[in-house]
Amino acid sequence: MPAKAKDYNLTAATKFSDNGAPANPSMDVENIFGENTFGLEAMKSRLPESTYESILATIEEGESLDPEVANTVAIAMKEWAVEKGATHYTHWFQPLTGRTAEKHDSFITPNEGGGAMAEFSGDDLIQGEPDASSFPNGGVRPTFEARGYTAWDPTSPAFIVENPKGTYLAIPTAFASWAGEALDFKTPLLRSMQALDEQARDVLELFGEDDVTRVYSTVGNEQEYFLIDEEYYYRRPDLVSAGRTLVGAEPPKGQELDDHYFGTIPERILSCMLEVERELYRLGVPVKTRHNEVAPSQYEIAPIFENANIAADHQQLVMIVLQKVARRHGLVCLLHEKPFAGVNGSGKHNNWSISTNTGLNLLEPGDTPHNNVRFLFFCAAVIRAVYKHQDLLLASIASAGNDHRLGANEAPPAIISMFLGDQMTGIFEQIANGETVSSEDDGLLGLGVDTVPKLPKHAGDRNRTSPFAFTGNKFEFRAVGSAISVSLCNTVLNTIVAESLDEMGTMLKDELDGDRSEEALEEAVGEVVGEVYDEAQDIVFNGDNYSAEWEEEAEERGLLNIPDALDALNTLPDSKNTALFEKYDVLSERETKSRHEVFVEQYFLTVNIEAETTESIARTMILPAAVEYLRELTATAEQSGALDLDVGGVSETAEEVTEQVNALRTAIDELSAQNEHAEDSVAANAEHMKDDVIPAMQSVREAADALERVVPDDEWPLPTYREMLFVK
Ligand code: ADP
Ligand code: MG
Repeated sequence: MPAKAKDYNLTAATKFSDNGAPANPSMDVENIFGENTFGLEAMKSRLPESTYESILATIEEGESLDPEVANTVAIAMKEWAVEKGATHYTHWFQPLTGRTAEKHDSFITPNEGGGAMAEFSGDDLIQGEPDASSFPNGGVRPTFEARGYTAWDPTSPAFIVENPKGTYLAIPTAFASWAGEALDFKTPLLRSMQALDEQARDVLELFGEDDVTRVYSTVGNEQEYFLIDEEYYYRRPDLVSAGRTLVGAEPPKGQELDDHYFGTIPERILSCMLEVERELYRLGVPVKTRHNEVAPSQYEIAPIFENANIAADHQQLVMIVLQKVARRHGLVCLLHEKPFAGVNGSGKHNNWSISTNTGLNLLEPGDTPHNNVRFLFFCAAVIRAVYKHQDLLLASIASAGNDHRLGANEAPPAIISMFLGDQMTGIFEQIANGETVSSEDDGLLGLGVDTVPKLPKHAGDRNRTSPFAFTGNKFEFRAVGSAISVSLCNTVLNTIVAESLDEMGTMLKDELDGDRSEEALEEAVGEVVGEVYDEAQDIVFNGDNYSAEWEEEAEERGLLNIPDALDALNTLPDSKNTALFEKYDVLSERETKSRHEVFVEQYFLTVNIEAETTESIARTMILPAAVEYLRELTATAEQSGALDLDVGGVSETAEEVTEQVNALRTAIDELSAQNEHAEDSVAANAEHMKDDVIPAMQSVREAADALERVVPDDEWPLPTYREMLFVK
């Protein structure tokens, strides 16, 4: 007897095995943390003191790198890597695909005696030349100068990637064209950090913080993801080629019981998580929290925050390690923003703040009047920046995948607003109104100075519906999707806040007019913050962002509402935005425009792949299964009729299935026509995807899902939601 299609279910449920992983690996965090990175500790023990001091100045103070130093570092790095079993090295970079790229070269160099030795020079370390002509570049790099080059980022530690058969050394790099134009996500992020550093230090000087030599943004990302059995994954062509299910009826039980959220972590999942965390510790990624998320089979991992550049590199490593380790447990990690319709999708909250090398968090309300004045100034700069550049924030997180999540009552809508909490809002309002801030409220720091407001030490209230929330000493940008690189949104945040600090710094200087007394500073900050808040306060909203009333109110306030990724992306090349990036040396106009082109093309390609996959699944899997069922029904009706049995129920079912088959067929034909239609530019094709292809895909899905509810379970050709989401 042929095996039933669904026999694999039981194998999936019982397939839990630790392929190749040590049974009880050491979890001595203090010893294993960072053991696979060539970080400061490794450098200090292996480099001559002067070289170490020199590289430290580059890493911590942003000083430019001496080529002699690179040579010495290269030799030490290679020795370290070879001790760790590395035979190859790679320049690890972040092209505009949003993921990472690498091409491996071995250390091997033949010697005169016919043998070989491992070699690696400063030149090999500093610069690489991947044959990278196929990476998206949006017209920046014509193919005749196609190669581009990678440049070592000494501020992010090199690391070892392990495989049971060997290891290699990965060196974080930036990726640019020969003309020096950025082809990646890292370069603009580094440039934006520099812009923020310069502007923030100028402002801090006015506040008398002379000992600060470096200001940087800090980032911590909460990554949500799904883990499902790999058996199901490989039986779903949509998961394999699109990362999400393109058809699939909702199961009788979804997430409504809230029994998964923060629940006990299933054994196989925990085993996978422990291994993920161990690998990440060894790579120096400070992961901290883990828990079950809202949807069945959905989880979260979050690290302790780090400087934005390292956090972005580490975020990529989190995604890579999750996907790699999952396979050792017979699982597949889905990073897509909406793998399953009808249950929550996945985001990647981007927690962001500004720190100094002297240990100040500039978004932390302080204990002294002086610190509070500084806090109000920096916080107002963020409010102003977000108000002025809602479009850029939306564009920075726009993707075909994130469209399924934003505004779907699980994530903020495509309207950027800010949550400050009632107390903080009250303080800003009073400053804007020129009132003396009251000191009556409990829980506020009694400072006894009239002009200086008392600030709540910890934001008591939380608002989970806000896209951009103040959470005590940082802002949490919640609209970020789970699959994307976090570099772009942090590049945008750094740049727009740098601009506001720049412009508010000028206002403050004018207001101070040379007076450097503490009283003058307090008064001037009050003036500037009041004026800025008055202009930007429409961005502040402490209510329910998921409500319909908010959409109306936001429109009255004149806030942007851009629910489609494509429309959000199309704001990127606006002159306001190209001028901003150019002014702060983050992106040239051409670099901004090339990014726009690349992102629009990716939108088009992503939806196009989904649409063709939907058509193929519907035509070659679902339609045949439905027709087969129909054949069984009609054969049964015929045979039963011959025996004079009442075949009413059978024929009714056959009629129902016939109708549904016809509906599916009509929907497939429509999708097929839309898939064949092509416009003559990428931009027009992207619009075609949004306006015609996505609705046609949706119709196929509806027809397919209706059939899934009637076709016998063991004849249905795809694993169902019930199986994928609940077999753990
Ligand atoms: P929650 O948002 O659930 O309250 P936490 O307060 O623990 O969770 O923080 C979530 C994330 O915010 C963590 O990754 C944490 O490291 C990060 N975070 C905390 N402080 C900062 C900061 N100053 N800058 C950037 N990220 C931060
Ligand atoms: Mg959070």
